[in-house]
Amino acid sequence: MSRMLLRLLPVVLASAGALRCQDPVVAERITEARVREVVSWLAADERAGRDTGSPELEQTADWLGERFAAAGLVPLPGGSWFHEYTLPGIGLDSRAVTLKLVRKVGDKSAEFVLEPDKDVRLLRPADLVSGEEECTVGLVDDPVLQRLIDAPSARRTAVLEVPAEHPFWKRAAGAHDRLGSVRGASRPVFLIRTGVLPARSADQEVAWSAAWTVPAAEKKDVPLRNVTATMPGTDKKDEFVVVSAHYDHIGTGRPVDGDAIYNGADDDASGTTAVVLLSEALAKMPPPRRTILFVCFSAEERGLEGSAAFCKRPPVPREGIVANLNLEMLGRPEPGKEGKAWITGSGYSDFADIAGAALKRGGVELIDFRMADQLFAASDNWSFVRHGIVAHSLSAGSLHSDYHRPSDEVERLDIPHMTKVIRALVEVVREFANRDARPEWNDEGKARIARGKR
Ligand SMILES: [Zn+2]
Repeated sequence: MSRMLLRLLPVVLASAGALRCQDPVVAERITEARVREVVSWLAADERAGRDTGSPELEQTADWLGERFAAAGLVPLPGGSWFHEYTLPGIGLDSRAVTLKLVRKVGDKSAEFVLEPDKDVRLLRPADLVSGEEECTVGLVDDPVLQRLIDAPSARRTAVLEVPAEHPFWKRAAGAHDRLGSVRGASRPVFLIRTGVLPARSADQEVAWSAAWTVPAAEKKDVPLRNVTATMPGTDKKDEFVVVSAHYDHIGTGRPVDGDAIYNGADDDASGTTAVVLLSEALAKMPPPRRTILFVCFSAEERGLEGSAAFCKRPPVPREGIVANLNLEMLGRPEPGKEGKAWITGSGYSDFADIAGAALKRGGVELIDFRMADQLFAASDNWSFVRHGIVAHSLSAGSLHSDYHRPSDEVERLDIPHMTKVIRALVEVVREFANRDARPEWNDEGKARIARGKR
């Protein structure tokens, strides 16, 4: 071995370690371009913030199923990529509403009879099914009206003018479902397509009244889906490692600087991107010993409902699930923390030690994060913890100022950082899937579980 080579030996060995992480499959499959491509699709405005119960979320579920199929993964027994469950909701139908508006300017009045679904749609139903009274008409991003919408107890019918491309208008089309209940809202909120009512000058004193009917909101169980794919194991195939993230976010809402779409690029399109890319890379590597379950949960933002339903009626024997690695918010490192990650509740089991060593092999350092303990029950890992399964969320970022705001956009993600972390996660998943021992809670962890959510 040449002298020059001997001098280089430590470097070669170190890079070999790194090289181990830079497995050609990993290097080829998990690239910045691919990371950007997947996260951009998930967090695009067309996904309208991926609210649970929205048509855009169902579209996203189908897209994720196609990704898993294309990666060569195996669907659940029965051939489906979806773990189905329901949540209580209401069925609405904008085709069945009627609205007649009367506008009074001075002693002049004009009447506007609006065509259901084409000109007028129902944004929020009410307890009452008909009314004839004064009402408020205004533009969708008027902050005064926004407060009216947010206040279910508001005693005035509200009518919002929205452009046809606005997510609210699209969401209220035809027959559609809404999660939750009518919540004792006393007055409905209608949407009117911009251009239906004549333009008004701001200095005009206008009084509006409305005669309206809406169908009684029909209680229903809204069908929802977790997207699930398996990578069968070998000698330990009846033991399962769940790699997860939530593909839902909070949808559309109060506009900020005119933007009403809460894109959730970091929360949690970044984690969902990691699940997709990990599945694609691992599918090209030697089969694991334990079976790996890749799961994208819905309804996380609705109180961990998707993962709770999954753990309540899992598609595999629950006692066989040895660990859950839940991926949350990987895209926005604090300054100086690029290429680093942290784990919630790391002091409660040997999970962080195992994951930390594997991350290190992948060139990513596991660090402490000041809120890691508080956040232990804040994401989908908690649904597994409640069943005694060792489960932690891994994050590589912070609760940044765009958290749960329309500004949580792809442009603000650190794609090189995300790519580095996702590559290193290959080592972590393989470690949990191939090691002899399964991760274990320690006494502090057992005490923490006993305390429950507190
Ligand atoms: Zn989240």
